[in-house]
Amino acid sequence: AAAAAMRGAIALEFDLTTGRRGERDDHVRGLLRELTGAEDATVVNNNAAAVLLVLNTVAKGRDAIVSRGELIEIGGAFRMPDIMARAGARLVEVGTTNRTHLRDYAEAIGPRTGLILKVHTSNYRIEGFAAAVPARELAPLARERGVPLVDDLGSGSLIDLARFGLAPEPTVADAVAAGADLVTFSGDKLLGGPQAGLVVGRKELIARLNRNPLKRALRIDKIRLAALEATLALYRDPDRLAERLPTVRHLARSQSDILAQARRLAPAVAAAFGPAVAVEAVECASQIGSGALPTATVPSAGLAVRPQAVPRGARGGGRVLSDFAAALRALPVPVIGRVAEGALVLDLRCLDDDVALVSALAALPTPGTTTEPAR
Ligand SMILES: *Cc1c(COP(=O)(O)O)cnc(C)c1O
Repeated sequence: AAAAAMRGAIALEFDLTTGRRGERDDHVRGLLRELTGAEDATVVNNNAAAVLLVLNTVAKGRDAIVSRGELIEIGGAFRMPDIMARAGARLVEVGTTNRTHLRDYAEAIGPRTGLILKVHTSNYRIEGFAAAVPARELAPLARERGVPLVDDLGSGSLIDLARFGLAPEPTVADAVAAGADLVTFSGDKLLGGPQAGLVVGRKELIARLNRNPLKRALRIDKIRLAALEATLALYRDPDRLAERLPTVRHLARSQSDILAQARRLAPAVAAAFGPAVAVEAVECASQIGSGALPTATVPSAGLAVRPQAVPRGARGGGRVLSDFAAALRALPVPVIGRVAEGALVLDLRCLDDDVALVSALAALPTPGTTTEPAR
């Protein structure tokens, strides 16, 4: 879809029915409404932009109420208090790091309140003596006091990941049903689409976002819009998603399937490395990361490769192993593993094509020769 949009002309902001100017969001608005149950939707560059746009539109010069347990940093200089300041909103922190109660929010609401913000703690967990107020319980309070409730889901998911044996992540439809007035989430985390930031929610609030001049500065181009539309369309048929959407396919792969691939590949990979490197199919664990399921891993499998110079059972592996890992990263098609238990482990969860790995490794210097290739 992206390639087709790149090659040819598309009716990006032209309404073919009326022959008048249209809106670029129209290409995905209907799908997002259908998939999330929200009244309306808009799309920007990424979820960071979505959060910025929402804060700037709804809470500029006003208070934005957030739990102290949810003042996230997601890396790359995205820190919630800093984004608030850039958006022109005044941060009002409520509760404590580990515990925030409904009364904390209730006491903070006043005439200057612009919104209440829930932020998904995408890359950490607060465990132990902890309490947070779910959006479902905040929504009646927000409605009663006439304050918009915004739920930043971070990754968000359009389907229940439990069907693939993964830990539950909040779905966007759940957040909308729980009563959030706006919900923000990423196009390229669990959703598996192109980089984008999606905002769904109440029609009049979405209209205000679209009238903000920042929207133009944060909008996405036709190529990504085409990719997003194609990705969202796949979600209409959740049963076939694991076959058709690579992100979901990779997340859903069973350990036995990956282990079978590792056993099948081991001889060819061993041949590519030559006799100085031992290759073994092993079980391992994949970390999902990317702003979702922060503490969960999924059982996986891969190839443990160990230069013979590294003693079996060695902890770490030191210099030889890190040089070896660096050599694989330097290949024309980089091969990236992680060092564990004295070996370099290549997790095969996301390897679609056996031949691709073997041919990438074929570019290694011929075993036994130590001379630099001719320049
Ligand atoms: C990842 C994340 C963002 C930013 O999303 P991008 O699409 O990476 O810009 C914002 N908020 C939360 C909670 C996130 O996890």
